[in-house]
Amino acid sequence: MYDSDNIFAKILRGEMDCEKIYEDDDVLAFKDKFPDAPVHVLVVPKGEYVSFDDFSAKAGAEVIGKFFEKVAKIARDELGLMENGYRIVSNIGDHGCQFVPHFHVHILGGAKLGGGAAKIGK
Ligand code: AMP
Repeated sequence: MYDSDNIFAKILRGEMDCEKIYEDDDVLAFKDKFPDAPVHVLVVPKGEYVSFDDFSAKAGAEVIGKFFEKVAKIARDELGLMENGYRIVSNIGDHGCQFVPHFHVHILGGAKLGGGAAKIGK
């Protein structure tokens, strides 16, 4: 069940501020408030999806494809990360340590990141 009181739903409704990077009819990208890298941006679809799993199950191939095309475009054109590379991450559920239950992709870059995708218990 989607919880419309989550932080990103409030940001999308304009009830909470964010440092906006990019917005169109379908997505909003804004700076992470507690960054884990020199560049840390969150990209969220405006549709109500709890997680990547929910988005994958419900949004359909066209919406999913367009969303990830925009994630790449934001990283390349808005953030200028393609010269040195970057990482995208989407946390899902409890074991994924998902904190905000509105699907989002983290874009991380601006410095050489730690190797590997994750460390258990960190
Ligand atoms: P996740 O664990 O994938 O759900 O990550 C949620 C992210 O949202 C974390 O990286 C937080 O630092 C970030 N965050 C929490 N509150 C805000 C906020 N008000 N504005 C921007 N980013 C936030």
